[in-house]
Amino acid sequence: MKKETRVQVADIPEEGLFLNFSQLADLIPPVDDYVQIGDTSGRLEIHKAGANIEIRGWVKSIVHLCCDRCLKVFPKEVETDFFYLLQPKSDFGADLSPDHQLSKDEIDVYWYEDGEIMGEELFREQILLQLPMRVLCSQTCKGLCPGCGADLNVSECTCGEKESHGPFEVLAQLKV
Ligand SMILES: [Zn+2]
Ligand SMILES: [Zn+2]
Repeated sequence: MKKETRVQVADIPEEGLFLNFSQLADLIPPVDDYVQIGDTSGRLEIHKAGANIEIRGWVKSIVHLCCDRCLKVFPKEVETDFFYLLQPKSDFGADLSPDHQLSKDEIDVYWYEDGEIMGEELFREQILLQLPMRVLCSQTCKGLCPGCGADLNVSECTCGEKESHGPFEVLAQLKV
């Protein structure tokens, strides 16, 4: 298993380069306090196509996320296949109109520079794309009481009947 995910374009042979990776977590740049990337494996199949580079890949990772409702940290497994077309930076976007350049959803065209492909960046992006917009430890997570802060999944609210049925809690629940 290879550890270094950066590939020099000059090192890619005509028949392509096939790389398998494991235990990548420490190579992937950190995301933020709410998203920690854990155990990660990946694969890259890299071919030259003229000056461009085609990359087919796969990544599987355990991501530690923080629940939006109860703030508990929990692991989530993500796995995906992906495909990138990389152009040299000098050519990038040449045949795309300016307002198309950033429309990465339509086609995964990126650029590379200094003759180097940053495998860890591709893995990181693909992992992040798999994460939900709204992070919940479970669809039925009851969250924290807005009054007393109790985790309602594991304990009872201690701030009493009156507040728990009050209009503010209803509003607070709509917001979470
Ligand atoms: Zn939760
Ligand atoms: Zn309460």
